[in-house]
Amino acid sequence: MDIVRHIIDGSETAAARRTAPVYDPATGRITKQVALADATEVEAAVAAAAAALPAWRASSLIKRADVFFRLRQLLADRTSELAAIVTSEHGKVLSDAAGEVSRGIENVEFAAGLVHLLKGERSEQVARGVDVHSVKQPVGVVAAITPFNFPVMVPLWMVASAIACGNTVVLKPSEKDPSAAVWLAKLFREAGLPDGVLNVVHGDREAVETLLDSPRVDAVSFVGSTPIARSIYRRASAAGKRVQALGGAKNHMVVMPDADLDAAADAAVSAAYGSAGERCMAVSVLVAVGDVADDLVAAVAARIGGLRIGPGTDAASDMGPLITREHRDAVASYVHGAPAEGATVVVDGTRQEFDSDGFFLGVSLLDHVRPGMAAYDQEIFGPVLSVVRVDTYADAVALVNANAYGNGTAIFTRDGGTARQYEFDVEVGMVGVNVPIPVPIGAYSFGGWKDSLFGDSHIYGPESIHFYTRSKVVTTRWPDHTPSQIDLGFPSNH
Ligand code: NAD
Repeated sequence: MDIVRHIIDGSETAAARRTAPVYDPATGRITKQVALADATEVEAAVAAAAAALPAWRASSLIKRADVFFRLRQLLADRTSELAAIVTSEHGKVLSDAAGEVSRGIENVEFAAGLVHLLKGERSEQVARGVDVHSVKQPVGVVAAITPFNFPVMVPLWMVASAIACGNTVVLKPSEKDPSAAVWLAKLFREAGLPDGVLNVVHGDREAVETLLDSPRVDAVSFVGSTPIARSIYRRASAAGKRVQALGGAKNHMVVMPDADLDAAADAAVSAAYGSAGERCMAVSVLVAVGDVADDLVAAVAARIGGLRIGPGTDAASDMGPLITREHRDAVASYVHGAPAEGATVVVDGTRQEFDSDGFFLGVSLLDHVRPGMAAYDQEIFGPVLSVVRVDTYADAVALVNANAYGNGTAIFTRDGGTARQYEFDVEVGMVGVNVPIPVPIGAYSFGGWKDSLFGDSHIYGPESIHFYTRSKVVTTRWPDHTPSQIDLGFPSNH
């Protein structure tokens, strides 16, 4: 059976002391094993990144940018190959996997503009004969730790900007779908990236904790669930590292009484069940305001019957399986537990049967859900949409703002004033107006508020240039004809 191996200093490693199975979620069968790094292997990857750092940070900006231009073309040319790898280990449908690649390409395109992005500032004559300028220098070795649900896009969120800024990277992808990261690292190499600049180690908690504790790791970018994000943030920041840790989500889509009901129902179904609900920007709560609720629930329920669930490789499938059997069963348990807590199961996807041992689950719709119920309070991360009914716009805002998460949200309305007010009021990092999944384009940064992000930098885009660089400010005076004198006072520019 194939073993998915680490890539350290440009080479795949030989032995694997510990491994874990990698499944094809559409069949339920183990297709490969993935090596799980121990502390020695992780330290070898960190050492390779540290060794590659001096030359990479000294490389010319134009040479660095060339890598990204070539990478962009390679990714565009080979999108279907990469999408097939994603589908084989994650399960999402091929078109969705290709969509994830295209969103990742946006990060590569952004990084290709590094010559512009790394410009500093200059002020002439801050005092007589004195100038000041600032430069952006790399932070050093970056650890990038990523979740299973976007095995291409999320690694590219991190590594594109980190490498563009002159850092070197150790990427620790999810052990559930590790092959895409290896493929990406090989493509970077083909695009001209020197060995050691991007290393990939697979593993679980042991590998992650070694990265967090390694004195040679300078910055940590993490994306995953909130409990892990919180602990990563604490441990890495306590060790003095720069850290951004993005966590989970509970994204509310507010539907006002004046909304286009059909557009809202289409958007809710697409955003709730796309990728089997395993997106951090999936809509998981539909907030029906006022008398829109009955019609909205009926419109969503009517659309669910038309969804086709099957292998991601089948072009007829709208939605594939979930990532693991255990996760599928955990998602189903929220539907089973909902009636006892007072919710109504309008559509019970857990009853749908599949002629396969894959990790398939039908889609579910819950109505009359309220805070305090497990289906509302927890991130289900599966194809379950909960409807919460509220009376007014103010109730909707209060509900969203009281939630612990603050990743994404959307409002559906025909009233520009209401939409503008929602943008002003809501305590969430990314907002859509009649757009259900407002993932910002690559020229902006992505990040939630509250328990959806620990740290003060959002990911990719302009904030990533800030996160992956240290600024240095230089004050300069060159010999001139002004007579000098001793002055023990604090330097004044007057
Ligand atoms: P996860 O937290 O289980 O795993 C994320 C990473 O952490 C993986 O690389 C994993 O190997 C590692 N890890 C797992 N347990 C660990 C431990 N105890 N100590 C150290 N490292 C550990 O997340 P997942 O199930 O892979 O991904 C789904 C989660 O990610 C969801 O909560 C989703 O909302 C979130 N997510 C958030 C965003 C965002 O941008 N905010 C994007 C994608 C996914």
